[in-house]
Amino acid sequence: MNERFIKKLMSTMKCGVCGEHYDINNIKVLGHRDDMWFLNVSCPACHSQALVAAVIKEGKPPEIVTDLTKAELVKFAQASIISADDILDLHGFLNDFDGDFAKLFSQK
Ligand SMILES: [Zn+2]
Repeated sequence: MNERFIKKLMSTMKCGVCGEHYDINNIKVLGHRDDMWFLNVSCPACHSQALVAAVIKEGKPPEIVTDLTKAELVKFAQASIISADDILDLHGFLNDFDGDFAKLFSQK
């Protein structure tokens, strides 16, 4: 799994605000922990920014969750094909996560 692939994948997603496709140049990979990748994306059209957590497993079709809030998580859990385990993992992780990416990715 490499950053180029992740970015390419993200460029197929649309901005939640205006519906424009994300541009590969506006996608920043923050890092990853196991199968969970964190990206910062900004829309080339309306310039809104989003934090994206994507669970991407080798050998399976990619499953992506774009979320900022618990309410959105619940919405995606009901509306998408992502497995319940993935949501539970993400939910638990985000509950504990204090937003400090620098600390997160410096952990070994
Ligand atoms: Zn937009």
